[in-house]
Amino acid sequence: MIPVLLVLNAGSSSLKFQVFDLLDGAEPRLVWKGLYEGLGGSAHSLVKDASGAILDETTWSSNDRLGHEEALMHLVAWLRQHQEGRTLAAIGHRVVHGGEAFSGPVLVDDAVLQALDSLVPLAPLHQPHNLEPIRIVRRRLPGMAQVACFDTAFHQTQSDIASLFALPSEMRDRGVRRYGFHGLSYDYIASVLATYDPRLAEGRVVVAHLGNGASLCALKGGVSIATTMGFSALDGLPMGTRCGAIDAGVVFFMLREMKLSPAEAERVLYTKSGLLGVSGISNDMRVLRSKAATEVDARRAIDLFVYRITREIGSLMAALGGVDGLVFTAGIGENDTATRAEVIAGLSWAGFSLDEDANRTGGPRISTGSGPTAWVIPTNEELVIARQTRTILGATWAKLAS
Ligand code: ADP
Repeated sequence: MIPVLLVLNAGSSSLKFQVFDLLDGAEPRLVWKGLYEGLGGSAHSLVKDASGAILDETTWSSNDRLGHEEALMHLVAWLRQHQEGRTLAAIGHRVVHGGEAFSGPVLVDDAVLQALDSLVPLAPLHQPHNLEPIRIVRRRLPGMAQVACFDTAFHQTQSDIASLFALPSEMRDRGVRRYGFHGLSYDYIASVLATYDPRLAEGRVVVAHLGNGASLCALKGGVSIATTMGFSALDGLPMGTRCGAIDAGVVFFMLREMKLSPAEAERVLYTKSGLLGVSGISNDMRVLRSKAATEVDARRAIDLFVYRITREIGSLMAALGGVDGLVFTAGIGENDTATRAEVIAGLSWAGFSLDEDANRTGGPRISTGSGPTAWVIPTNEELVIARQTRTILGATWAKLAS
């Protein structure tokens, strides 16, 4: 039997998954991937093979009220039908917040789950959804090994100063500090830098994870020393629907003068701001690019996005004491040639020079000249979860595989 690992990434109305074969010390090998979306409403699922070919597609009506539990059990049933010579041996979960306690992946037990629950106030919009499938699996598949892998953990290498807010020290004692997120993505990029250029793995690199959520990370020798997200996933760059860094005084204005409740203010900052809020059109970069020539507000949203990225890269360069490379990743970073070109144009003062042909064809290297280099590297957060889960369950795998 080949032990397989299920990787889950749960959101409020979605469940993304990947399934990996684990073979004799080799890199985990992707077998299937897919998602359930529209959970709680008109749900839809998709399963693809490793090449992206669709193997299964199912639609449920809103009357079915397919939730996370039904979706997960539907997935487990599908896996059992198709597993031929494989056995589901463990589940690895993406969990947004590991707080201060978890500086790496962890096998989930009662105490761990309780500790992760206590972090819900630090990530109220994400953590509960990430923990839900862990509970479901404990209930429906008792005994299944589960590993939690954190978006925060990769940044625990940051110095005390880099993680500190200039707030009264008792707030630091309550856990109010900069944590940083997108750590699974940065972990992946750090792990493959040497295959692109060994000097990058040793050097000073800024990674731009530009998806619906967006952040930057400064890597020195492959280790995180600074990042733009802080206490919550709201900080740093403007994103699809999140505001990024704003003056905290704006929040008081929203509460006191605009009479918004804390929940309403939170909803504005998380779901109505960023590219969507500024453009009034869409949070999807493809839509904004298609309208940028004719719609002033689409252009402004893109210009603000690029301006903030460029400024924050300058800040991380200062933290690094210079820069050897810049990596673009995630949906926008991997696909939007115009954003990459505009960011690099804004960094010409630092010696970056765009190779337009390479940028058009997606790199991987998209810079010319003798200055710092720029790259496009597709991220793979699920593979990092698979790697981490296997590491935590090392001894168990050895037994299963024998
Ligand atoms: P998430 O944070 O949800 O994982 P992704 O990494 O999938 O987000 O990135 C989503 C973003 O990537 C969206 O803004 C989308 O418009 C953008 N994107 C995806 N493909 C392209 C493309 N071909 N050109 C420009 N932007 C793209």
